[in-house]
Amino acid sequence: MEIEFYGATRRVTGSCHVLRANGFTVLLDCGLVQGSRDDEALNREPFPFDPATIDAVVLSHGHIDHSGRLPHLVNLGFRGKIHTHHATIELCRILLKDSAMLAGHDALYRQRHGEPDAEPLYTVEEAMRCVRQMKGLKYGERLEFLPGIAVTLCDAGHILGSAFVKLEITEGDLTRTLVFSGDLGQYDSPILNDPEAIGKADVVLVESTYGDRLHKDFDSTVAEIGEIIETSCRDCGNILFPAFSIGRSQELLYLFGEHFEEWELDKWQVFLDSPMAIEASRIYWHHEELWDEEARLFRHGLRRMTPFSNLHLTGRVEESIKINDMKEGAIIIAGSGMCNGGRIIHHLKHNIERPECHIIISGFQAEGTLGRELVEGRKEVWMHKRKYRVRAKLHTIGGLSAHGDRADLLRWLKSREGSPQVMIVHGEAEAKESFKWFLHNEISIDPLIPQPGDRLDLATNELRPAGKVSE
Ligand SMILES: [Zn+2]
Repeated sequence: MEIEFYGATRRVTGSCHVLRANGFTVLLDCGLVQGSRDDEALNREPFPFDPATIDAVVLSHGHIDHSGRLPHLVNLGFRGKIHTHHATIELCRILLKDSAMLAGHDALYRQRHGEPDAEPLYTVEEAMRCVRQMKGLKYGERLEFLPGIAVTLCDAGHILGSAFVKLEITEGDLTRTLVFSGDLGQYDSPILNDPEAIGKADVVLVESTYGDRLHKDFDSTVAEIGEIIETSCRDCGNILFPAFSIGRSQELLYLFGEHFEEWELDKWQVFLDSPMAIEASRIYWHHEELWDEEARLFRHGLRRMTPFSNLHLTGRVEESIKINDMKEGAIIIAGSGMCNGGRIIHHLKHNIERPECHIIISGFQAEGTLGRELVEGRKEVWMHKRKYRVRAKLHTIGGLSAHGDRADLLRWLKSREGSPQVMIVHGEAEAKESFKWFLHNEISIDPLIPQPGDRLDLATNELRPAGKVSE
């Protein structure tokens, strides 16, 4: 029994690992690489394995960098089941559809730029066929989906339905427990439960997106948002929230509902300007059983998903365009969260050169994205082939991240039982190295950072470099 590491070992996006045991091959996640156009071209490269030989997939959560290459896998011959949480299936229905539409736009772009035969990675129909191969599980439900391989999904507290995956693998007399973190959320964040305890494990694969830093604490982040709203009101401008449709958008609405009076939000018109975020909010609303106690208490007595009357769900394009008539008093939540596409680009074009406007960046910004350029303080940026001067006020708030920080990751790792081998599998190179040393100093463990193609023997915890054949 062994696990082979592929995607996400060198970067934050494109998660994918291969488990081989009992003569079966199981994929853990199959995500899209996101970032610059060159990075994204990697998604069209062949898989380092034959998709038709994969027996099953276990999917940690719906985010595209974990699920987005699954329809491509199906197109290339994968016919097995994709085991994941029920809510993840619902979210994948909208996320993979959106991903297919973006792939269509990308193909058109390439056709116009020297690749006349360019095809999208997959179509909407193909994405939906992939969703039909998904099989839903609840948290804590154990399923032996192949002889000798059982999965249990545990709440990861990252987005709705997100799980860390526990696999119990039995070969002959030997049973080993492999835990794969997927993406872990923050402890004490709104709406969702905290990540569950790891429990017994022999090997733990852990992400390290923020393994090198600490977020601002949640309460001061909330206070900061309040202050920005107050300042913006005096400035007579608009506020833009580039936000991920799933997770961040719902958290913001929740916070707006909770602080409505304190932040004097009745002076504003709030727009959730994203069809995908609106659909995702409905899915969140319908899965109250996955909310934490505080959120359920808050919801008590609310009959509608829109908790205040000046919240506008602008699904249609005409409604979205109309927002641009407003020169002040608009709070606009729109995707994409990294400003690398979507409706936020149009709002940025209308507001970024106006010093009275505010832009609040609140999530991880991958290299090569416009969001990253803004966070790094660029004074000029390009959008739709035009240069814009950045004159709006930019705020980076850390405390709302859907990812846990170094302290959260440590707290989660401390919940392990036994002395598992820890593998750091997800994150940019510096974050991984920094997290590795931090863990060594803090809890005296020696995690390994696998390279693409490296394989870990699950019976002995021996790491074999890529290309070295086992004896
Ligand atoms: Zn995620």
